Amino acid sequence: MLKPGESLKGLRQKYGIKHRKKFSAVHSLLKQKRKCPQCGSLKFGREAVGIWSCPKCGYKVAGTAYDVSV
Ligand SMILES: [Zn+2]
Repeated sequence: MLKPGESLKGLRQKYGIKHRKKFSAVHSLLKQKRKCPQCGSLKFGREAVGIWSCPKCGYKVAGTAYDVSV
């Protein structure tokens, strides 16, 4: 059995099934591989809430909290 404090992927038994399902859907959306619109690198990702950037070429764009497109 897992001891308290040990981390598993996701939220475990916290918050109830409804929220866990929502979280995993949002999480997979967030972790999805994205292509940089400028250089085509797959490193393109979220830098902060609402800010998406490419570490390769420095391209930065505003988006929503969990996705680039609105
Ligand atoms: Zn780029």
